[in-house]
Amino acid sequence: MDPGSDVIIETENLVYSYNQSGEGEMQALNGVSLSIVRGEFVAIIGRNGSGKSTLAKHFNALFLPTSGNVHINGMNTKDPDNLWRIRQTVGMVFQNPDNQIVSTTVEEDVAFGPENLGIPAAEIRRRVDLALKWVGMSEHVRHAPHLLSGGQKQRVAIAGVLAMKPQCIVLDEPTAMLDPSGRREVLETVKRLNEEDGITVVLITHFMSEAILGERVIVMDSGKIVMDDVPGKIFNQVELLRQLDLDVPQVTQLAHELAESGVPVARDALTIKEFINSLHGLYPSVITATYGE
Ligand code: ADP
Ligand code: MG
Repeated sequence: MDPGSDVIIETENLVYSYNQSGEGEMQALNGVSLSIVRGEFVAIIGRNGSGKSTLAKHFNALFLPTSGNVHINGMNTKDPDNLWRIRQTVGMVFQNPDNQIVSTTVEEDVAFGPENLGIPAAEIRRRVDLALKWVGMSEHVRHAPHLLSGGQKQRVAIAGVLAMKPQCIVLDEPTAMLDPSGRREVLETVKRLNEEDGITVVLITHFMSEAILGERVIVMDSGKIVMDDVPGKIFNQVELLRQLDLDVPQVTQLAHELAESGVPVARDALTIKEFINSLHGLYPSVITATYGE
């Protein structure tokens, strides 16, 4: 087998400038090199303007590099012959669900992508039903999308992407405009797609509680990747994250402050469960009495 065949997204020294010809050229990406492997769940974080959305738009050839290269399954995004295969391979979900609605019923909306691919009607029907089932929206098939809640609309947008049978979904702050229950619905759906269907997920988020869902976290700043590691190793660097204007998960913050004041707890707890486990060694009888073994 080709040694690079497990890599689904690859960027090599990717540079992107807005307003390339005119005045006020703005270099939004300053040499980004990364590889994302099939089946990974990668979270991308970084302060506003760090280049996350610009990077994401290169993953399905919405943007083409000013210099450097982007390969999707080995296909160079600069080659127009690859465009449709790339768009089928990597689906995008954006922040505002209202901007992603194109039709007057949920089923037409989900069918829009596969229709554009010229897929036969019977196969589209099958894909629409399956995609809506996946995101838990089957009972809304004939409803008007604009009447749904934000979380439901985002799940319909995800179904529209799934109906194209992508290998990878890139979500650019998909929960930013949702209430907590909408956020939960969307994240559970995405997590399930990754775990049960093996779909590669790239989740751009400014919620640290979402970033820890990834098995890998990439941190961007000024158009560059500044950190790329497992969440535990990223979020225990509290001072560095603060310099980058990023939060840490609340539990990690607490563990960090306790550790700083001399309490011997593990600094890399990301969830309450991990934090409690790290306390076990310290106060075994109290913790066991309160939370069990
Ligand atoms: P993020 O998604 O991390 O907030 P973006 O990729 O949207 O960052 O933006 C990266 C940089 O590019 C920012 O400095 C932003 O101001 C600039 N930028 C984004 N979109 C445009 C545009 N359409 N024209 C000019 N500059 C832009
Ligand atoms: Mg953005």
